Amino acid sequence: MSEFPTQARVVIIGGGIMGASTAYHLAKLGWKDTIVIERHKLTSGTTFHAAGLVGQLRSNANITQLLGESVKLYKTLEQETGLATGWKMNGGLRLACNEERWTEVRRQATTARSFGLEMHLLTPREALDLWPLMDISDLVGAAFLPTDGQANPSDITASLAKGARMHGARIFEDTDVTGFKVENGRVTEVQTSRGTVQCEIVVNCAGQWARELGAKVGVNVPLVSVEHQYMITEQIAGVTSSLPTLRDPDRLTYYKEEVGGLVMGGYEPNPIAWAADGFPDKFNFQLLGSNFDHFEQLTELALGRVPALATAGVKELINGPESFTPDGNFILGLAPELDNYYLGCGFNAFGIAAGGGAGKVLAEWIVGGEPPYDLSPVDILRFGRNHQDVNWVRSRTLEAYAKHYTIAWPSEEYKSGRPLRRSPLYDRLKAQGAVFGEKLGWERPNWFAEAGEDAADHYTFNRPNWFGAVAREHAATRDAVSVFDQTSFAKFALVGRDAADALSIISAANVHKPVGSLIYSLMLNTHGGIESDFTAARIAQDEYYLVCGTGAATRDFDWLRRHIPDGMDARLLDVSSMYSTLSLMGPEARHVLEKLTRDDVSNAAFPFGTWRTLHIAGAPVRALRVTYVGELGWELHIPVEFAATVYDALMQAGQAFGIRNAGYRAIETLRLEKGYRAFGSDIGPDHTPYEAGLGWLLKMKSGLPFIGREALEKRRDAPLRKKLVCFTVDDPSVVLLGRETIYRNGERVGWVGSAGFGHTIGKPIAYGYVRQPEGDVTDEFVLSGAYELDVATTRVPAKAHLKPLYDEQRTRILG
Ligand SMILES: Cc1cc2nc3c(=O)[nH]c(=O)nc-3n(C[C@H](O)[C@H](O)[C@H](O)COP(=O)(O)OP(=O)(O)OC[C@H]3O[C@@H](n4cnc5c(N)ncnc54)[C@H](O)[C@@H]3O)c2cc1C
Repeated sequence: MSEFPTQARVVIIGGGIMGASTAYHLAKLGWKDTIVIERHKLTSGTTFHAAGLVGQLRSNANITQLLGESVKLYKTLEQETGLATGWKMNGGLRLACNEERWTEVRRQATTARSFGLEMHLLTPREALDLWPLMDISDLVGAAFLPTDGQANPSDITASLAKGARMHGARIFEDTDVTGFKVENGRVTEVQTSRGTVQCEIVVNCAGQWARELGAKVGVNVPLVSVEHQYMITEQIAGVTSSLPTLRDPDRLTYYKEEVGGLVMGGYEPNPIAWAADGFPDKFNFQLLGSNFDHFEQLTELALGRVPALATAGVKELINGPESFTPDGNFILGLAPELDNYYLGCGFNAFGIAAGGGAGKVLAEWIVGGEPPYDLSPVDILRFGRNHQDVNWVRSRTLEAYAKHYTIAWPSEEYKSGRPLRRSPLYDRLKAQGAVFGEKLGWERPNWFAEAGEDAADHYTFNRPNWFGAVAREHAATRDAVSVFDQTSFAKFALVGRDAADALSIISAANVHKPVGSLIYSLMLNTHGGIESDFTAARIAQDEYYLVCGTGAATRDFDWLRRHIPDGMDARLLDVSSMYSTLSLMGPEARHVLEKLTRDDVSNAAFPFGTWRTLHIAGAPVRALRVTYVGELGWELHIPVEFAATVYDALMQAGQAFGIRNAGYRAIETLRLEKGYRAFGSDIGPDHTPYEAGLGWLLKMKSGLPFIGREALEKRRDAPLRKKLVCFTVDDPSVVLLGRETIYRNGERVGWVGSAGFGHTIGKPIAYGYVRQPEGDVTDEFVLSGAYELDVATTRVPAKAHLKPLYDEQRTRILG
């Protein structure tokens, strides 16, 4: 082993698959001064006992691409390093045993097609041909992904480690990281059992220990350990080395071949948390005691599928702890608490499948200073204040674990750890039939049940039970007036002498507007991709009030904070908890306000795109004349202690105008008709404003500098490779949920981002990018095509639109 260094550019902590993969990719990118520090031996944490299944399909295109990168790497790594990985591309089978599951599988097949991954639907007999040991008496159908496979986790890691060394990285085993020195928001020194290393960048790849390690420097890593078991059998007649991996979600189990026998594991509905009170010392190359009693529920289910298990000898029941997260996805990226502390951990029992690709994108992220493509589903910034209490994290994580193989219903909500963050109106709304959803711990009304209706979601792939209620709320907003409780919005104050100049650098729209102005804008990255959309109210010469999406609270704060230019006098404060937000929306909104305030709310005195302080029912209210539903309306930002009083007054004054409570599912159907973009599904870091149809808001002509400007200047006159297009389907019974494949003249050109039903136009609506990697997606190109959407493997005709489906002239909102 080489001498322990006193200095390294990058220090990676953890010698599991993720640490090895990150080191390999960093070194390959030329960052040779990279070291891996492992407490014991490589793979000795969780990696050595993984089962080794490698699946690729996820519900997000980029994460599917990332898993595809793993497969690409595992195929070729042996050639490069001379060390085998055990990679076998035997394909993966997925079974469906009831009609709802079959619909899910068919929708997954459509998703796979959308993302360019091969996935075939099979009859039970065809599935049997691939996996002759199974009982197919309860099968409705199956799906086969020919490029899935399996690998040997320890061998891959050894091969990656060798590759890392070949490219110049160094690995130090038997070395414990014990502490850090932090100066000015950066880790400058990593302290270990063998000495201290000065460094530029730290990467926490410590698996299930990542949370404890992060806590040493105040970095919150929301993951917990959960026991996970699989059984290894003796040889079974008929089990061949070419057997595909098998997932049997209705029986909660998975299988792979191993030395002529089977590995069978699964996800129990009652998972067992591990090490809740801390980790035992020296837990390396160790397993937990086999828990046959707990595993029996899975064995029983498995026997029904693979009768040969009844007589097969059991070699071992492996019980290994693994890190799981509250949303079932892993964690990458730069920790918001520090400026040079990256994370690569929390792999939810798919770290072998993800390790190759995750190490690659993390290395590119570190070298490039930004993710290579939109990785927000796995970015540490997706978490928020609710993820700081480990007890809460554990209860939500156990629920996510238990749901691993249950049907992923459209619009499904978690149940655990609720209610947590409540608006002051929560009890009032609940008493009026509110059915809540949850985002970042916030309870948000999704829809309102009337007397006699069941105030609960009943999930289905068809029309759900809330369809009628949402139609009611939608109609009330279009024809009368509704109140939406949007208290969960993230709200920031940007204050200081240079607030305008600082925001101007970050904002793609012009924010140098008079006090009283309201500006819809975007934050862009250096490629011109959209990092966030937000509304800015100019409160004073030296103050802005910024309203951001609920789910973007951490991410947007982080982006703003990091991009305020050095030396400028501009401070960012999170004021989310100071204000409740009630959106009063609909043609009668002004009439309601007029009954409650002496302030002038006429169009002349209070036009669209401005804000004023209104005095409503004794409360000083920041009223923003803006809309996300396409109607006349105001977002009322109310100091929380006044919120209930203002709400009661609005409902009382609104009675004469047919006022209703309305929820987030109505917001969604209303904004789809109006063509307003949703961050995450319609817009994001991979899309520019030109591609998203938001070029109108850019301050290109102003000459003012802003992040992303140079990239946009280059792209302004270049061919558009993709464009966001709206689609409608004439058949109202078609249920669009997102990820449907878009075909233009019979050719696959993209997939649907957001989708739903437009209750005013009476049709299903979808938005998706039409792509032409080599061409120019002009308006003419879009409108001249004949379109179909692939919905659960059935193609339905669709019509493309480039203009809003509702109120194109904006007369409803400007009046
Ligand atoms: C029973 C079971 C079956 C599984 N099956 C599959 C499967 O089929 N497919 C799949 O894709 N995934 C599977 N997994 C998941 C997979 O094993 C993990 O996701 C993966 O191994 C995680 O790798 P890692 O590098 O993040 O963590 P680890 O392998 O745990 O590596 C972290 C390393 O950090 C070191 N470390 C911690 N603290 C310090 C410190 N202070 N100083 C120095 N070093 C430190 C530890 O010693 C450890 O070696 C399974 C997991 C289990 C438990």
